Amino acid sequence: MEIKANEISSLIKEQIKKYHHKMELLDTGKVISVGDGVAMIHGLENAMLSELVLFNNGIYGMVLSLEEDSVGVVIFGDDSQIKEDDIVKRTSKIVEIPVGDNFLGRVVNPLGQPIDGLGPIESNKTRPIERIAPGVITRKSVDTPLQTGIKAIDSMIPIGRGQRELIIGDRQTGKTAIAIDTIINQKDQNIKCVYVAIGQKASTVAQVVEKLRVHGALDYTVVVVATASEMAPIQYIAPYAGVTLAEEWMEKGEDVLVVYDDLSKHAVAYRTLSLLLRRSPGREAYPGDVFYLHSRLLERAVRMDDQYGGGSITALPIIETQAGDISAYIPTNVISITDGQIFLQSDLFASGQRPAVDTGLSVSRVGSAAQIKAVKQVSSNLKIELANYRELQAFAQFGSDLDKATKDVLNHGAKVYELLRQKQYASMNVFDQVIQLFTAKYKLIDDIPMNKIQDYEESLLNHMHSKQKKLMKDLEKNKAISKELEEKLLEAITEYTKNYLA
Ligand code: ATP
Ligand code: MG
Repeated sequence: MEIKANEISSLIKEQIKKYHHKMELLDTGKVISVGDGVAMIHGLENAMLSELVLFNNGIYGMVLSLEEDSVGVVIFGDDSQIKEDDIVKRTSKIVEIPVGDNFLGRVVNPLGQPIDGLGPIESNKTRPIERIAPGVITRKSVDTPLQTGIKAIDSMIPIGRGQRELIIGDRQTGKTAIAIDTIINQKDQNIKCVYVAIGQKASTVAQVVEKLRVHGALDYTVVVVATASEMAPIQYIAPYAGVTLAEEWMEKGEDVLVVYDDLSKHAVAYRTLSLLLRRSPGREAYPGDVFYLHSRLLERAVRMDDQYGGGSITALPIIETQAGDISAYIPTNVISITDGQIFLQSDLFASGQRPAVDTGLSVSRVGSAAQIKAVKQVSSNLKIELANYRELQAFAQFGSDLDKATKDVLNHGAKVYELLRQKQYASMNVFDQVIQLFTAKYKLIDDIPMNKIQDYEESLLNHMHSKQKKLMKDLEKNKAISKELEEKLLEAITEYTKNYLA
């Protein structure tokens, strides 16, 4: 069979035409289906994971699943404006948000747009929200404390800058309270804070923002909000946006604290997206990569080596449990990613023991390296004493005839628990904590009546600050209790206790 010259040229022309079509499909696509905040796109063959794409009516979306002949995109905006057959274009950019100091004191959505009605935020720099965490070589171990100002935590579950400490507990057990108190306690500590609210009621977030403002903490804090009414894609990127803001400061050598409140709701948002994108559901219907969802986020918490700027990002993720079950899927995942957890118990909370820290199940795996020596000296036995107390308490319920030693342990334990009670927004200086814990270590509180403990401790601090300035100065200067200081403190506080009882 012969082919004529003009036929050849038309065939080639056709091929070239198709090639163009193919090129187009690499960078643009068409909407096949849309709904529930996700769209399936035909084309976009060159799209990257997490790439920003633009629909023809100006709405942005993010690529979240790459399949053989289609691409799944989550939509940042009103999906009812997007129709089948609409054109979608690549932007060749990973989702980025603006960053910088102007964000301090502001409330923004996860795209970095202000939602506090205080006008636009000027910024001349953007950063991609996804980033590979710094490697091992550039890091160093945690060595500087991050004081929460909460006695039960700073003494027994200390947190260091660059650490990831999980706050976990049932609903309404004071999880947010601990995080907010910690932010408030960073005043004048040269730490910037990021509070990320995911899937919460707008009214709850408004209250938190107001509390931060009242306590002067908003000046060094940025609040990133994706409320419960927000579409799942916005909730999904919220924590990444938060850590991105933090990274800008961390890279300048500054210390940053990030709170993710909470990651259970974040996981649920991701599950929603995954199911809509028809990924196969695994345990509890979460997709297979839900561990990676949180591990890549929390790995970005870091303590950089001085050679690499020396900044840090401390992460306080929050997880809500159901009926205290910390062995459910998401809780175990996040427990294994973090460097310890603060477990809050609803029984304790209900009985008035607040903050409701379960001292048995709470740990900090790296923070003790950063703990101030004086705190270590006064609190090293605390956990064991409280464990003994709880054990005896359970046993003492059966009989009333207890020997004196047992009674002493029970009395001491109860008094220590009372000492560890602390109101919200009443964060305490670390050296004041040392003085109060000193009274526990030397069992000076054992003689004080139960209902007087809080009063006793408070007036003790007043006394020390007014009458024993020299001892307090010594303590603050050395951050440790020398043999000599110990004797002097013991003498002064015993004397004070005697007077108090009289
Ligand atoms: P949710 O599950 O709804 O997010 P949560 O675990 O974050 O709840 P919070 O909102 O922090 O709990 O606290 C619940 C309630 O307990 C709030 O009204 C708060 O004011 C109160 N509360 C928290 N901590 C303390 C405390 N140390 N002393 C007294 N009240 C507290
Ligand atoms: Mg909360």
